[in-house]
Amino acid sequence: MNKKEALKIYRTQNEKIAAYSLLMATAGFDRMTIAPKDGSAYRNRMFSIISGEMYTLRTQKDYIDAILYLADQKIDEVTDRDIALAKKSIENIIKFTKEEMMEYSLAEMTANDKWLEAKLSNDYSIFEPHLKKLIELNKKMANRRNPKADPYDVLLDDFEEGMDRKKYDAFFSLIRKELLPLIKKIDKKKGMIDDSFLYKYYPAEKQALFMKDAMKYLGFSSNWGYMGLTEHPFTSGFSRNDVRVTTSYDEHNITAAIFSLVHECGHAFYEHQVDPKFDKYPFIRNMSSGMHESQSRFFENYLARRRSFFVTLYPKLQSYFPENLGNVSLDDFIRAANVSKCSLVRTEADELTYPIHILIRYELEKDIFKGKISLDELEKAWDDKYMKYLGIKAEKVSDGILQDVHWSESYYGYFPTYALGSAIGAQLFYKMKQDLDVDELLSKGQFKKITDYLKKNVQRYGALYNFEQIVKMATGEDFDPHYYIDYLKEKYCALYKIK
Ligand code: ZN
Repeated sequence: MNKKEALKIYRTQNEKIAAYSLLMATAGFDRMTIAPKDGSAYRNRMFSIISGEMYTLRTQKDYIDAILYLADQKIDEVTDRDIALAKKSIENIIKFTKEEMMEYSLAEMTANDKWLEAKLSNDYSIFEPHLKKLIELNKKMANRRNPKADPYDVLLDDFEEGMDRKKYDAFFSLIRKELLPLIKKIDKKKGMIDDSFLYKYYPAEKQALFMKDAMKYLGFSSNWGYMGLTEHPFTSGFSRNDVRVTTSYDEHNITAAIFSLVHECGHAFYEHQVDPKFDKYPFIRNMSSGMHESQSRFFENYLARRRSFFVTLYPKLQSYFPENLGNVSLDDFIRAANVSKCSLVRTEADELTYPIHILIRYELEKDIFKGKISLDELEKAWDDKYMKYLGIKAEKVSDGILQDVHWSESYYGYFPTYALGSAIGAQLFYKMKQDLDVDELLSKGQFKKITDYLKKNVQRYGALYNFEQIVKMATGEDFDPHYYIDYLKEKYCALYKIK
């Protein structure tokens, strides 16, 4: 084999895999949004067969040979990185048989359906056996992939290259030490800021009208993006110019859908703004979870929770809900939208308590994969952690262990990336404020200048570099979680008048 032949095989097969991936993504989006639930058993079996075909394509002998050959060559920076990532992915897949991958796919799809059923009927027992099965499968697979490593370290690295328990332990101990005391202080000031008007009745149809204005403000265009509805909002990037986001409306919480949709738009812009020349490099187009969350949480928190973000949008929001917001000033609205309180649902948590929700999941996952928690006691372990850190207990399992979709989709090791992404975002935001007059741009509706900045400094690279390299290039400094801690302390001490 020579370089030219190997590259031809590599690229041709990547195109074929990409074509199947597009079909899978399309069918997956359909499944998560509009497909009737009674069709799920049939649908899941068909998905499992297609995932078997994907396995065949990914493990085709000449394709693997080409990757292994190219991994030892020097071509150019982009191709070398793409191939290094391809090699890592292939080395994982070949440890399993086609039948195992199909079984895994079926278990995952079934668990996901059962999770939704359990959540909607508020009954953990519907999901529990499927969750146990999925955790056991993931443990087994992580062990086979790397018998010497702790299985949770293997999974953490899947979602953020280079991360492991040691690094996350240091990160979360900083969060525990620096933020928990402040959260306790603020908890004593409960009720200081009136946010009751946010929880009045807000009909979904009218919320949807506001979302159109918000999407326009963000520059999310229907030429390259689409918005649908789901129980658990997500983003699916089919390709650079076809990105789908979903949202869900809570008719008794006006900010939930707004911040969640803006969050998903952060993911969507990242997918959309990767350098077009990487379209043919599938592994470089596959950005890490921590970097993805750094962009979504950037939109959601560092931008959308600012007063300036709502200068042009708030009058529109008031016009849809004059009875609820007509007499509420912009300043009062923003203060209310930033209220910090110990609450049960992660996706609705304020910025300050949010990382504690992640800390809880991180500690649970670590113990699950270490075998420290028996899977029979998971529900209790969940409640105990919430009591320990936030002093509250879920009345309904749908607000407790069933609140998140992730565990039903085998996303073990993903949660920590939300906190890591928030911390990366804080550092990027600190630098952006030095380079741009962010408030001026936001209040004038010049959101494009912000997305252009993110494109130039972060998003265009895709996965060409790891998160540490991107942070260094974008800010001139190594990743430092103190930017995150300082941002939260400064913001919440000012809001709650704490010295
Ligand atoms: Zn996200």
